[in-house]
Amino acid sequence: MLKIIKKIDFKFNSIMPIFKNGNYSDFLKGKYPEPEDVLVCPTDALDIDQKEISLEKCVECLLCPYYLPSKTIKYSEENSLEKFMEFVNSDKKYLTKWIGQAISTSNSDIKCGFDVKIQSGSRTKRIPLLIIIENKPLILKIVDSFKDIEYGVLSLEEIEEGIKQYDLQLPGKIIVTNEIKIKYDEELQEMVTKLKEKHNFELVFAESIWNTVKEGWLATQVEWKKIFCLETR
Ligand code: SF4
Repeated sequence: MLKIIKKIDFKFNSIMPIFKNGNYSDFLKGKYPEPEDVLVCPTDALDIDQKEISLEKCVECLLCPYYLPSKTIKYSEENSLEKFMEFVNSDKKYLTKWIGQAISTSNSDIKCGFDVKIQSGSRTKRIPLLIIIENKPLILKIVDSFKDIEYGVLSLEEIEEGIKQYDLQLPGKIIVTNEIKIKYDEELQEMVTKLKEKHNFELVFAESIWNTVKEGWLATQVEWKKIFCLETR
């Protein structure tokens, strides 16, 4: 649970720029589309005038602490992740947006693009989230349950096929699930290992990303390379 404990004069930019609808090849060259402004807080829980967080409205996305002076917010572990996951499950599109926002907020050197275009034959494919870390592109798709992992990977592979046609740098494939880690039993691990051997992707839990964002709030650098397994590729 987040609570503002120190009411001091701070400036809070309630909007942040994101990149949407650019082309994959342009992103690789460092050419980004005109940024679009989106709200940092998904629920209007942060009252800038009163310098308060509405505990009822806050869904613990943990983005605003990155914008606030340190020691302004008190954090207690109470139900935080559950609250966030509840919100994510009620708004299926939010998780992709939040991951891109969280990465961009915590590290301005990493570029994220939403709905990035890649031409595939006569059709235009959309990459839900493109992340470029140290010149390495990653394409990411959210799946709601373990049984959807294969479907998710196949849709990323279709995008990859489109990219191959243009002889562009191939991305790493990331599947993010909002299933909780505790359910990831041996049988599921075996299934995912087999899928990984065939399709070469990484499975990341939304839960792990949320914990990374939480830790990053106090750390000097958020370990995005580690969480997307870039160090082991
Ligand atoms: S943690 Fe997220 S939901 Fe809560 S006030 Fe901050 S930005 Fe809003």
